[in-house]
Amino acid sequence: MTIPKHRFFMWLTMKNKMQTTARLFTIGVSRDPMCQICGLAEEAQDHLFLNCVYSCEVLKTIKRCMMWNTTSTNVLDIYRYIKRSRMSRMWKQTSYAVLAASVYQIWSVRNDAFWS
Ligand SMILES: [Zn+2]
Repeated sequence: MTIPKHRFFMWLTMKNKMQTTARLFTIGVSRDPMCQICGLAEEAQDHLFLNCVYSCEVLKTIKRCMMWNTTSTNVLDIYRYIKRSRMSRMWKQTSYAVLAASVYQIWSVRNDAFWS
């Protein structure tokens, strides 16, 4: 059910392999390690998908819409919540697809900010 490119970005996130500006800064590719969305902290993957004000708002909204009963706004915690929950198989697949689409959307917004 998950769109392949969404699944790929979700996989990169789960493996902590996203090419964030903090990572690009350490190898000399980027001159600015700060978050491209909020500018309040270094754009490490933990910040981008755990602490960034934008991603927290996106994930809060998605959690409310999907009626996910977890207090976390951490992508990995939400993934584990879905995996352990007693949702129907169809609802779990839908939830994984929505979470992966959210990760892709957050990364797209980050890329728009990076390239503009
Ligand atoms: Zn941020």
